[in-house]
Amino acid sequence: MTKTKNITIGVLSLQGAFLEHELYFKKAITNNEQQYLNYSFNIIQVRTKDQLNQCDSLVIPGGESSTMSYIAERTELLPHLYNFIADESKSIWGTCAGLIFLSKDILNGVKDQKCLGGLNIQVNRNAFGRQVDSFEKKLDFSEFIEGCNDFPTIFIRAPVVTKILDGEFNKNGNNYNNPAPVEILYKLQNYHGDKELIVAVRQGRILGTSFHPELSDDYRFHQYFIDEFVLKFCK
Ligand code: GLN
Repeated sequence: MTKTKNITIGVLSLQGAFLEHELYFKKAITNNEQQYLNYSFNIIQVRTKDQLNQCDSLVIPGGESSTMSYIAERTELLPHLYNFIADESKSIWGTCAGLIFLSKDILNGVKDQKCLGGLNIQVNRNAFGRQVDSFEKKLDFSEFIEGCNDFPTIFIRAPVVTKILDGEFNKNGNNYNNPAPVEILYKLQNYHGDKELIVAVRQGRILGTSFHPELSDDYRFHQYFIDEFVLKFCK
């Protein structure tokens, strides 16, 4: 009989849409029970170093990146997050504020806003404008998620990736340099006459999306993260 492998996925729960991620992972797993027979998943909320240390994988939700940075600093979780990011056996996904928190350089950040530096990218916060400029759009992700040509994306005061940085760039407190190449997964075309806006990237085991798959009533993105990141990179 094959042995069951225990896997813990943590959702950073300092602020923002962490409950939604927790729920979506649970649904993605129960809806695909047959596929995951050899695994026993544990989905936990992460607020402390001890909770973080249990995780094989971490998801940073949408919310407000400056508040997350502030709470992480105040609760002294920040250095542990830096260590987690630097551990090559961990997979990580940031959505919206989570993408901002994972970047190396933030345009329009608040004073002293920290970033974790896991993705060699510069992001522009609130790149589409204010809350009223939030929007929903079906996008074709079939180039990286098989058959997924109609994914309902939700953008809320979303960031865009404005630059791919070289590995040497370092402005944040984390000295880590992700050795994998930055892959652009998706560019939005012709939004407000702009050329192309990068809204999804991956750099090896780290994934970042400007939009919120945890709010869209579709679990395929969560399943993609489990299959292509959590299961591929965990020890
Ligand atoms: N604008 C927010 C920030 O800077 C992100 C918004 C979101 O996560 N929906 O963190």
